[in-house]
Amino acid sequence: MTPSRDKSKIVLVTGASSGIGAAAVRALTATGMTVHAAARRHDRLQALAAESGCIPHVLDVTDAPAVQALVAEIGTIDILVNNAGLGRGWGSLVEATYTDIEVTVSTNVTATIHMVQAVLPAMIAQKSGHVVNVGSMAGLYPLSSALYGATKGAMHRLSTNLRLELHGTGVRVTEICPGRIQTEFYQVAVDDDDARSAILDTGADEVTAAECADTIVYAVNAAPHININRIELQPTEQTYGGSQYVLRKTQP
Ligand code: NDP
Repeated sequence: MTPSRDKSKIVLVTGASSGIGAAAVRALTATGMTVHAAARRHDRLQALAAESGCIPHVLDVTDAPAVQALVAEIGTIDILVNNAGLGRGWGSLVEATYTDIEVTVSTNVTATIHMVQAVLPAMIAQKSGHVVNVGSMAGLYPLSSALYGATKGAMHRLSTNLRLELHGTGVRVTEICPGRIQTEFYQVAVDDDDARSAILDTGADEVTAAECADTIVYAVNAAPHININRIELQPTEQTYGGSQYVLRKTQP
């Protein structure tokens, strides 16, 4: 792993107990930075701390006072990796429950905004800092899931407009937009075994969480005068959008 440009940097990674977040913690600690790892599952965080040397924090990102308290406890945070997220109500908005909608919006959008707001004052005061938002290709292009895509679309606009609001402060903003990455995402998103198997069984050569985490390291390791605005990555064997037809004469 490439050493960090500045090993004194303090990082907070949310959603650190599995997938892309855990991989980001491993990759960022390997560069020599001090990494605080936050998620709800204590046992996972303990194991990650033993393995990587990160500092674990049990946190539900939808608990705004707890977010404020953690940011105050850590003190200055140089790099925030806003990664905690999920995709409940994945298959169909019509079939999504009230809770699916509430949990997905509050985790992916509201909590992300609270987290950014909590870290910014110290970053602006020190005239440097970096907010890395893990969005999705689903926030940029028609991919799948109306509900999930709506939340990641909101994260996309949050990222671009933050860049405008923070222009001149020295604080950088990067959006990482993955396509399919091998993680526990679909185990959490989809309850039905058959539907989940169908989604997971792509047969494609998928991107690993560690490979995705490398893009986060690349963005935060860029020279201070460079802002990596957005990185999109997905399996070569996957793409997005396209044009589809359902003929009226075949509709029931
Ligand atoms: P995982 O399910 O493996 O990881 C999700 C992480 O988010 C877990 O660590 C989980 O921790 C955490 N999390 C969820 N809810 C909360 C909460 N309320 N408070 C704190 N932490 C929470 O999935 P991924 O690694 O794939 O997901 C990471 C990000 O990447 C998400 O934002 C996702 O939308 C995005 N993404 C993933 C893609 C993929 O194909 N995998 C594609 C595009 C984007 P815990 O349950 O312990 O709290």
